Amino acid sequence: MDRLTFRQTLAAGLDDVVHYGKRLTHYEDVPGGVVRAHFADGSSAEGDVLVGADGIGSAVRSQLLPNAQTFDTSLRLIYGRTPLTPARRELLADFAIVTGPSARSMVLGVFEFENDPRHVAGSLGLSTSFTDVGDYVMWGLVVPAEDVGEESPTGTAPGEESPTGTAVDEEPLTGTAVDEEPLTGTAVDEESPTGTATGEEPLTGSALDEESLIGAALKLTSGWHPGVHGLIEEAVPSSLTLLSLHSSIPVDAWRTRNVTLLGDAAHAMFPAGGGTAIALRDAAELRQALHTVTTGTSHLLPALATYESAMRSYSASAVRESYLMAERLGAPPWPAP
Ligand SMILES: Cc1cc2nc3c(=O)[nH]c(=O)nc-3n(C[C@H](O)[C@H](O)[C@H](O)COP(=O)(O)OP(=O)(O)OC[C@H]3O[C@@H](n4cnc5c(N)ncnc54)[C@H](O)[C@@H]3O)c2cc1C
Repeated sequence: MDRLTFRQTLAAGLDDVVHYGKRLTHYEDVPGGVVRAHFADGSSAEGDVLVGADGIGSAVRSQLLPNAQTFDTSLRLIYGRTPLTPARRELLADFAIVTGPSARSMVLGVFEFENDPRHVAGSLGLSTSFTDVGDYVMWGLVVPAEDVGEESPTGTAPGEESPTGTAVDEEPLTGTAVDEEPLTGTAVDEESPTGTATGEEPLTGSALDEESLIGAALKLTSGWHPGVHGLIEEAVPSSLTLLSLHSSIPVDAWRTRNVTLLGDAAHAMFPAGGGTAIALRDAAELRQALHTVTTGTSHLLPALATYESAMRSYSASAVRESYLMAERLGAPPWPAP
């Protein structure tokens, strides 16, 4: 599913509830069991529960669980989006992985709208205006860090020693990889979910430009099927991004309090296809737990403890399973016991 359309769908009808452009810096306890969230613009907000759904770099997790770890898998992703044409539709199944030589692989997915979401929204009476994304092929070239001129961190957890990376035999790329998820339509600094930005941290300044990324992707797939080169050459320039792919290490149980975590903030995983589904499951489980509080069948902390216990259990196996794909694509073995 197209990510921007999905996000715009989720945000439909919530204009008066969601506030954009606020970056949480920290939280504090307030007498009476209240938690106060502080934002970078100096404002704050109070509530009975704070849910940290702030992604892999979660500020909430950093404060709640300072020992929780994420680590660099040593894999890099050059991501792009190319308009879908009938010829490409012929060539591609809905989803495919091309495994090339030198530990390089390409993930390809066809995104084809059955109905124009703008018309669907109208027929459902939704006030949201959807961005016209159009049908496209999403492609991601996964390569070792050395292939983009970076030293491999070898997938070790933070604080562990990492052997020096292998020398690069090709021209190294200059610039900085983006560490965070770039494919969402809205970053914390943006004003609404209807923005067309391709990333939470768009590559700017010293970062690689679109032409360099296209050139690098072509070079790294030298000798591959010409259809792959066509996809790269005709990518939408603003969609091109270089990413570092990270994972988390599942955390042990912690003492439940009125601050909790959801999605990547709790259990970021290698992008093997399950992260969003698990984040949505968290949201459903948490909603259910909070419902028992509002209906008076449970107190807050036991309800949150039930949610957290279930979430830790199913997400730990998902994190581990997703890393199998990382290993298949050339990442070092799982770094935790
Ligand atoms: C390249 C790539 C491809 C992927 N492909 C898939 C796929 O095909 N299928 C799948 O299921 N999953 C996929 N994933 C994983 C998926 O994107 C994540 O699991 C999912 O987005 C997690 O949702 P989330 O809401 O927890 O976090 P996010 O989507 O990261 O959202 C976190 C939000 O918090 C905001 N935020 C961050 N810090 C702060 C702060 N301090 N204050 C306020 N707001 C903040 C961010 O701006 C962002 O809007 C992929 C990931 C990557 C990197």
